[in-house]
Amino acid sequence: MSPDAINVDNIEFSYGNVHAVKGITFDVKEKEIFGFLGPNGAGKSTTIKMLTGQIFPKKGKISVLGMDVTKKTGRVQARIGVSFEQTNLYEQMSAVENLKLFADLFGVKKFDADKLLAMVDLHGRNRDHVSTFSKGMKQRLMLARALVNQPEILFLDEPTEGLDPVSADNIRKIILKERERGAAVFLTTHDMMEADKLSDRVAFIHEGKIVALDSPYHLKQKFGKRLIKVETETASGELKETEITMDEPYTADDVRSLFAEEKVITIHSEEASLEDIFIQITGRGLTG
Ligand code: ATP
Repeated sequence: MSPDAINVDNIEFSYGNVHAVKGITFDVKEKEIFGFLGPNGAGKSTTIKMLTGQIFPKKGKISVLGMDVTKKTGRVQARIGVSFEQTNLYEQMSAVENLKLFADLFGVKKFDADKLLAMVDLHGRNRDHVSTFSKGMKQRLMLARALVNQPEILFLDEPTEGLDPVSADNIRKIILKERERGAAVFLTTHDMMEADKLSDRVAFIHEGKIVALDSPYHLKQKFGKRLIKVETETASGELKETEITMDEPYTADDVRSLFAEEKVITIHSEEASLEDIFIQITGRGLTG
């Protein structure tokens, strides 16, 4: 069996008396896209900061690529890529200079800045000062910077937040390509559609605790009710929508009688979204 990319054992973190992370345990497998989902203030950023050695847990253990991140912080950081929400780039330097500076910092000798910038759709702006970039452009530059050292694990905090749909989709494609290259990806988001599309497994974090962890498919099977939505036409020509719960003993009879007694116009099945399941488990949504 291949080793895990990340092992987290019962970690805790507090900011003064704010208990932000309250004892969480999980593993991220090699080449896995692991989605970390939760609403604002749930503890996502605090967790990602602990995993990348920017802050140390007050309790518990974290092993990244087989190393204790609190003891081998520099060695871990040289082998991971990190792209955070807040843009800590050098504004008075060009995009290429920012990448080069970062490469020097981690002793990366060989990398193709132009290729990386083209990958995040910044070609043509390589030599421009970062101060002239929009927020979305800076975010894409952060991602290019995270890829300079061909990281074995990529940590992305809300990578598509605030981007236009085309840029967001491009970032999602890069994430999938990185996994193909062999990287594991740890992704925090409160966009459940994104997490659903990309993640092999997702963890739901709520008030500093993991409240569910599984593949989106299994979570939906376990918590979500599948529905059949049927649109029928009444005698007076009006449309009426009926919902039938799937996987129940009476489902087949309900469908049969609907077809026998009414004029069916459309029929389609619908499964619960991760958002529905999050609400079911925690009593609150992922946004707001
Ligand atoms: P968001 O999606 O808004 O970034 P999050 O899930 O990343 O939220 P965290 O930023 O980890 O959440 O915050 C977890 C808790 O810790 C919140 O109650 C937050 O107010 C608190 N917190 C975070 N950073 C600090 C800090 N530097 N000082 C004090 N409290 C903090």
